[in-house]
Amino acid sequence: MPVTEGTQTARIIAERARFVSPGVATPRLVVAEADGARITDVDGRTFVDFAGGIGCQNTGHRHPAVVDAVKEQADRYLHQCFMVGMYEPYVDVCRRLAELSPCRGDEQRSILVNSGAEAVENAVKIARAATGRQAVVVFEHAFHGRTLLAMTMTSKVKPYKAGFGPFAPEVYRAPAPYPYRGVSTDDALAALDQLFKSDVDPASVACVVLEPVQGEGGFIPMPPDYLARLQELCRVNGILYVDDEVQSGVGRTGRMWAVDHYDGVEPDLLVAGKSIGGGLPLAGVTGRAELMDAVPTGGLGGTFGGNPLACAAGAAVLEIVAADGFLTDARALGETLRARLEALAARHADIGEVRGLGPMLAFEFEERSPDRAQTVVSAAFERGLVLLSCGLYGNVIRLLPPLTIAQDELDEGLAILEDSLAA
Ligand code: PLP
Repeated sequence: MPVTEGTQTARIIAERARFVSPGVATPRLVVAEADGARITDVDGRTFVDFAGGIGCQNTGHRHPAVVDAVKEQADRYLHQCFMVGMYEPYVDVCRRLAELSPCRGDEQRSILVNSGAEAVENAVKIARAATGRQAVVVFEHAFHGRTLLAMTMTSKVKPYKAGFGPFAPEVYRAPAPYPYRGVSTDDALAALDQLFKSDVDPASVACVVLEPVQGEGGFIPMPPDYLARLQELCRVNGILYVDDEVQSGVGRTGRMWAVDHYDGVEPDLLVAGKSIGGGLPLAGVTGRAELMDAVPTGGLGGTFGGNPLACAAGAAVLEIVAADGFLTDARALGETLRARLEALAARHADIGEVRGLGPMLAFEFEERSPDRAQTVVSAAFERGLVLLSCGLYGNVIRLLPPLTIAQDELDEGLAILEDSLAA
């Protein structure tokens, strides 16, 4: 849809082109307000939001408890730097993360930072300090962020890596299971074994870092047996297992953490981000005391990490998601969504697979090209739905609506999706 001349949208897009780096991709959506699962643009058009600012709104835009907590905090102080003036909201979020942690060990501690990438980098630092080893093993279809080490760990060249080298050393990659494209648990583990023979001594590997449902890579859930077998391989070799739940965590899959779906799997370190801040920049690393204590005092930190406003929001979010009923409702949403997507797939032969975990769902077009998905995303936008694609080939449509979305908004969004597929 062309941007209509003379609108606020046209004015701001023109200013954006003049003043903002084109390196940041932007759509034609210029937001004025957002509430729950609804966005209103600067010209008064409304959209159902199936993107949540890339998975950051599991509790919905401006959840009242989050807004109240932020306002209350804003009346006290905005910034201290935890390394200069300590404050309770930071400690409170870490206490909640300890209570909710899926990680091995009784005593859990956390560090809070600003972004998923920063949290991933800190998890690697902690793993290196705790093991005295340097190598990191990551997987095909992984996305871990855009800073140097996180970008190196990410498994997509364009647009994330092309032209940005040299990359960080000591990062090794193995295939992860991807049953739809023919990679089984056995294949993935055999390839890892091969990696340990051909490229890196397992005795020098500090950690493996894995998303239990690969997010940007295409919403690929790890098969049930894979995580347990990977964990076993890690334990045998003294390698730490880092669970990147930046996108899959905080209720997105209908459990607090996606890894909670996998019996007997207890990561060594958990990386959280995105929705934990309820819309404010917050991320963290959680793990057992023995690992977290391996870093000398002063080795971790940052000016804004665990900012008071973000922590106030984070504590409210964790309270909401852990409260009775939230995750049950999220799982029910997942069942409804899955049934609706399966029905869509039955009507569209070019949809190869519907997949996901709980309400973290997507469908992949058979063709390995972004064209079809992009057409659907654009058609959806014209019709009032914000939708995102993902996947190495950009041929996956992912659904990231607030888990609090009302039935009528869900129906409206899915009707637009159906229309857009037919467009
Ligand atoms: N890890 C995962 C699994 C992600 O999905 C992302 C972002 O999409 C990141 C890390 C990086 O997070 P951020 O964009 O906050 O740096």
